[in-house]
Amino acid sequence: MRDFSYLRAASVEEAINAAALPATMLLAGGTTLLDLAKCGVADPERVVDISHLTGLDTIRVDGEGAFIGALAKMSRVAVDAAIQQQFPAVSEALWQAASAQIRNMASIGGNLLQRTRCAYFRDPATFPACNKRSPGSGCSALEGVTRNHAVLGGSDACIATYPGDLAVALTAFDAVVHLGERSVAIDDFFLLPGSTPNREHAMQPGEMITAITIPTSVAARHSTFIKVRDRQSYEFAAASAAVGIAFEADGKTISDIRVALGGVATKPWRARGVEDALRGRAFEPEAVKQASRLAIEGAIDHGANHYKIELAPRVVERAILKTGAMA
Ligand SMILES: Cc1cc2nc3c(=O)[nH]c(=O)nc-3n(C[C@H](O)[C@H](O)[C@H](O)COP(=O)(O)OP(=O)(O)OC[C@H]3O[C@@H](n4cnc5c(N)ncnc54)[C@H](O)[C@@H]3O)c2cc1C
Ligand code: SF4
Repeated sequence: MRDFSYLRAASVEEAINAAALPATMLLAGGTTLLDLAKCGVADPERVVDISHLTGLDTIRVDGEGAFIGALAKMSRVAVDAAIQQQFPAVSEALWQAASAQIRNMASIGGNLLQRTRCAYFRDPATFPACNKRSPGSGCSALEGVTRNHAVLGGSDACIATYPGDLAVALTAFDAVVHLGERSVAIDDFFLLPGSTPNREHAMQPGEMITAITIPTSVAARHSTFIKVRDRQSYEFAAASAAVGIAFEADGKTISDIRVALGGVATKPWRARGVEDALRGRAFEPEAVKQASRLAIEGAIDHGANHYKIELAPRVVERAILKTGAMA
């Protein structure tokens, strides 16, 4: 039995003030927080409930882009007609995440901040060594079973994979995370582990996600999300790709291409090497295949996760071919 105080915040301001106190965690849908409390990873002294706050669940799409409030439910965003039309990869990423029950409970803000599924991280009783949980304690995974671990963006301190799907699509289309007064580009929001894997994002104490925005683009409108996993539902990605493509007037030359990877890196991974190799070139299967290999440039495997180095470029290639055929 763990004791903690519970505050039902009456406003964003009250939630932010309370969140500035040490050992305080916000509660939105609770599908991650409760899980982490049960396995002994999260042990807050104060829980600040924001789930009922009004005005934070707006979903709006106009000529500029999409505005999605932090408390919008995953399921609502996934079925929103304008999101499906303007940002199909975002809708598809949400549809392929978790289960219907979780999508109905879980919020967009909470989804971005979900924690890694590294089994060692989630079992503190058996594996005390985890730099992400207890800085300086070591990394049980480096000497352990690494099948689900990252091949990109890892460090000597941590090789845990970022598990979410939505953030991968948001990374491909240059979304912005709004933290009240401040805004951070999504690629800067998620941090590489380096020597401080306990710091996963750019949020400071006393900040909360209030919304995300995604700029409109032709590539976002012609986009898709492919997720490969051990089973076809209720499973995290072994490798995933969000891809968007725009063509020149000739219908053949790629004018804009966005590629981001999930399931293989320590943060949602923008594959700029693939984009640079294909932008300005004719859309041809052999060029796509060659460029897709660049998705795993710099990858390092740890034995059991070597398959991701083979899998990721194939997922990227499939996603590009599918998107190109639709665009
Ligand atoms: C069995 C299972 C399978 C899953 N499969 C997938 C999957 O395939 N793909 C996928 O993407 N996800 C998957 N998930 C993760 C799921 O999507 C997340 O649990 C969910 O999105 C979290 O949202 P929430 O609102 O419940 O967050 P909460 O649990 O309420 O919060 C999560 C974290 O975010 C913080 N937080 C919440 N809202 C805010 C805010 N506005 N500002 C600042 N901090 C905030 C909380 O303090 C907490 O640390 C799975 C989860 C489970 C349990
Ligand atoms: S990979 Fe990261 S999260 Fe997993 S045990 Fe090592 S330090 Fe902890």
